[in-house]
Amino acid sequence: MLLPRNDSTNGWSRIIPSRTPNAALTEDREADWVVVGAGLAGLAAARRLAENRPGETVVLLEADRVGEGAQGRNSGFAIDAPHNVGSSMAELEAAHSHLRLARAAIAYLARQVKEHNISCDWRVDGKFHAAVSKSGIDTVLRPTLKTLETMGEAHEWLEGKALHDRLGFTHFAAGIYTPGTVLLNPAALCHGLADSLPANVTLYEKTPVTGVSHKNGIEVQTPQGKVKAGKLIFTVNGWINQFGYYRKHTIPLAAHASLTRQLTPEEQKKLGGLNSWGLTPANAFVGITMRRTPDQRILIRQNMAYEPKLSVSDEARARAREGHQILFDERFPMLKGVTMEHTWTGFICLSRNGVPGFGQLAPDVYSSVIHQGVGLTKATIGGMLVADLACGVENPLLNDIQSLGEPQALPSLPFVDVGIKARLNWELWAHRAEA
Ligand SMILES: Cc1cc2nc3c(=O)[nH]c(=O)nc-3n(C[C@H](O)[C@H](O)[C@H](O)COP(=O)(O)OP(=O)(O)OC[C@H]3O[C@@H](n4cnc5c(N)ncnc54)[C@H](O)[C@@H]3O)c2cc1C
Repeated sequence: MLLPRNDSTNGWSRIIPSRTPNAALTEDREADWVVVGAGLAGLAAARRLAENRPGETVVLLEADRVGEGAQGRNSGFAIDAPHNVGSSMAELEAAHSHLRLARAAIAYLARQVKEHNISCDWRVDGKFHAAVSKSGIDTVLRPTLKTLETMGEAHEWLEGKALHDRLGFTHFAAGIYTPGTVLLNPAALCHGLADSLPANVTLYEKTPVTGVSHKNGIEVQTPQGKVKAGKLIFTVNGWINQFGYYRKHTIPLAAHASLTRQLTPEEQKKLGGLNSWGLTPANAFVGITMRRTPDQRILIRQNMAYEPKLSVSDEARARAREGHQILFDERFPMLKGVTMEHTWTGFICLSRNGVPGFGQLAPDVYSSVIHQGVGLTKATIGGMLVADLACGVENPLLNDIQSLGEPQALPSLPFVDVGIKARLNWELWAHRAEA
């Protein structure tokens, strides 16, 4: 069974005060609920179960430390307005569902951040969705613009100097600014969420689940103890196939990101532009997601590869870091000598049709998994809603999430790996002008 094996280089957790993790499970115990995986979905599911059923016990099991998985390694964009939406009525309908779900996720997170005073650089800075080439503008930005107009969503179209003045550099030809995206430090957010869980939730860290038995009720095995529970929720994202579910539905990708050292006041002046911004590229595979963080670092997220073994070597990470430095130097000639201070890898799980694995899997077993590259909102709302579903709580957002459908299965092995790699290579080639 594949278990999570994170590198220890996550920049987001290295630039904040260190957190003492909760103890591992070292005994057998019973609970009303067991949630497996304490990422964004698991943290939201456990909290919501506790809110729905204050008299019941919830055990949350995490293989690593909270904030060391993808939940704390992402680029920190909690995105509301969908981009890359098609123009059919069905796609627009789905876009409205995505929007309602994303906004509810942001509101749920915002409430925790405020109530528990979570210090995670939470800023409603919005984001720029930008393109380099004419084809990127015509095939991605203009359709997005049309969608935003049809949906009546606030936005600003920025070309040339108008965009460069905001960002401080000139690489992109045009962009669409939408104001609702929240930018944050994801590791700090997850630390705060974990440390403010309700009293009837017990979180065990460094506790990988190594098996689940359904013989006499649900029994979850870990290296040093078992949990017997009434109901089980899987929130393990791309590891769900290790438990026998969605075996032909997951596309695991390794994604690399780097943070530079902090810019000096002189370098900040040379760069100019806004002092905090976030930018998503017209093509997420080819292009670079970038941020200027409130503590004045530049984030580069670039380079995605199909990684079914869910691990990446130090050599591959070193190559990614070199690549990030080259891309940074090309885009920011005014920042000569600014180097990458942290480079890390995280794992994203896609499905073929972009739909999450949400719902009931078996009697008393539920899941919210496969949250694509937008899990800050999708996993949060998925976790919250799967708890409502399992508790029988009525919530109109359940219609939205269920209307998205089911993840589409991949074609049968043995060609699947070749097919996915070929498709990724095609994306890279077809959209190379967006690099
Ligand atoms: C570099 C990068 C940049 C990204 N940028 C963004 C972004 O800007 N915005 C955005 O919204 N999304 C972004 N994402 C995607 C986002 O991080 C994920 O979609 C999100 O983390 C999914 O949340 P989750 O809770 O479903 O899964 P995860 O965060 O992957 O959490 C699942 C947890 O389950 C645990 N687990 C797995 N197996 C077991 C087991 N056997 N026993 C116990 N625990 C187990 C894992 O350790 C993990 O902590 C990015 C991802 C990466 C890697």
